Amino acid sequence: MPEAPRDVMPNSSHIMPAIVSPDHGAAFEALLHDEDKARDYLLELAWPTGDPFCPRCGHRKVYSLSGERLRCAACKYTFQPFSGRWINNGALNPAEWLRLIVLFVEERSVHQMKEELGLSYNTVYKALTAIRFAILANALDARQLISPATGLDSYLKGNRLTGGPREMRMDTIPVYGILRRDDLVFIDLVPGFQAETLFHFHMNFHLKLIRSGNLVYTDRYKEYDALMFCGNDSLPYEVIRRYDEPPHIDAVHDEFWGYAQSRIKKFRGISCQRFPLYMKELEFRFNNREKPLAEILAAYLCALVPDTD
Ligand SMILES: [Zn+2]
Repeated sequence: MPEAPRDVMPNSSHIMPAIVSPDHGAAFEALLHDEDKARDYLLELAWPTGDPFCPRCGHRKVYSLSGERLRCAACKYTFQPFSGRWINNGALNPAEWLRLIVLFVEERSVHQMKEELGLSYNTVYKALTAIRFAILANALDARQLISPATGLDSYLKGNRLTGGPREMRMDTIPVYGILRRDDLVFIDLVPGFQAETLFHFHMNFHLKLIRSGNLVYTDRYKEYDALMFCGNDSLPYEVIRRYDEPPHIDAVHDEFWGYAQSRIKKFRGISCQRFPLYMKELEFRFNNREKPLAEILAAYLCALVPDTD
């Protein structure tokens, strides 16, 4: 098998090592309060070969215009270095983004983040939404998840996070399945299932339903350890019967489920619209628990927003 040509490999003198060295924590730390270094680091993630390219058509011949603007020689699109990327959603400078990522990895509250960074609640909240979308967009099933089936498509206008949530009811609230494979977890959208489907299975086929606030989950179903959805006040929770025996996922003391439940409780007041963002965040944290999350998240944020139209 031919080897990849050397010149397409990232330049080793840049800060982001392909294989993370033992002192990567210190290297990352050094970026947090150095605006220029932080910016170079993020640019390196956006343009791994060091050369800019058009975020719209991928063409590599671009002209520099005044300020930071660039123009594509092929499609004439005028753009900024971070145009069309998740990181373009939010009024943070590069070092602030990296500090926010560290606080996110540490699971700090929005209030703590806003205090630490000296930013407004709304600025932090919007930037966190961009981080969560970037995580979700990197999942294998991203295309399925950023779609009308989940309602997440309504948050995106083109490649910008400027939209808002869509109203959801019993017949539109999506259902997700928890699949365990060895040490990994997968949170899947279950196509064709809505909250209504699970109420129907409960009433007519005795599928066990457990309610905890707005979170409703089931006993084992086909290949899934549990199905679940996050509801809202429009649902008939009163039809859910109580059980003496716990459902499968509680009975086996599933490691992911224990991890997720303690966090879901902290997400009190989470909406059915944003639920998949939080579940994919938990999937990401759990599956990468031995890895340097901050570096991975910085790379996800610098990725292009996928074209979902
Ligand atoms: Zn172009």
